[in-house]
Amino acid sequence: MSVPKKIKPLVAGNWKMNGTGADLRELRRLHAGLAKHKFGCDVAVCVPATLIHRLSGMKFGAKIMSGGQDCHGAEKGAHTGDVSAEMLKDAGAKWVIVGHSERRAEVKSGGHGETSKKVRDKVLAAQKAGLRSIVCVGELLAERKSGDTLKVVGAQLRQSLPDTCSAADIVIAYEPVWAIGSGLTPSVEQISAVHGHIRKALTRRFGDAGAAMRILYGGSVKPSNAAELMAIANVNGALVGGASLKA
Ligand code: PEP
Repeated sequence: MSVPKKIKPLVAGNWKMNGTGADLRELRRLHAGLAKHKFGCDVAVCVPATLIHRLSGMKFGAKIMSGGQDCHGAEKGAHTGDVSAEMLKDAGAKWVIVGHSERRAEVKSGGHGETSKKVRDKVLAAQKAGLRSIVCVGELLAERKSGDTLKVVGAQLRQSLPDTCSAADIVIAYEPVWAIGSGLTPSVEQISAVHGHIRKALTRRFGDAGAAMRILYGGSVKPSNAAELMAIANVNGALVGGASLKA
């Protein structure tokens, strides 16, 4: 197996259900900020579906790519309120987040009860539409406490990814559920252990493509901890929720 060239990091924002047209001016500020610095990362912002078309029209080109936060696994049909991968692509999206823990969460706790099988269908739909997927995996606090983190993350990874994955169209985001929006972050050792485990699993299954795939960390990333988190081995960028609302 060949040693991968240096992996270019990706920093992706996840605006969740926040933002209307007026908030896109924050991205003008981001664009101006990026122009002032030598920034060796790809940058994407996954805005609400209603804003993708407007963001794409802001002509940031590859400097700030636009993304969706979910897509349906089917191409089209009777799925009221859902958005297909092709629709996101048509609106200008380059990326889509799939399997976010807020969608995997049980319906009774406000989520959508999405299984890894469903996530896999969404990845396939995104591939077919020509979108790149950010596939989220991560353990619950109870699973972390019971020592099941690697088992849970390994199973999510195995079941959420189709066999046809390349480093160009798939990015993994490790997001411990207990760290999302909570202000808590795992220790450097904990992140390093999970990212190392994911890298091994990807390389075993996909060979060179797995060795070159980006693995993002997500969960309470903010300006004060980003540099330390990005310096951890096998951390190839970040998925940023709350903090991405500010340029
Ligand atoms: C997320 O929503 O993917 C996320 C990581 O959120 P936050 O940064 O707010 O914890």
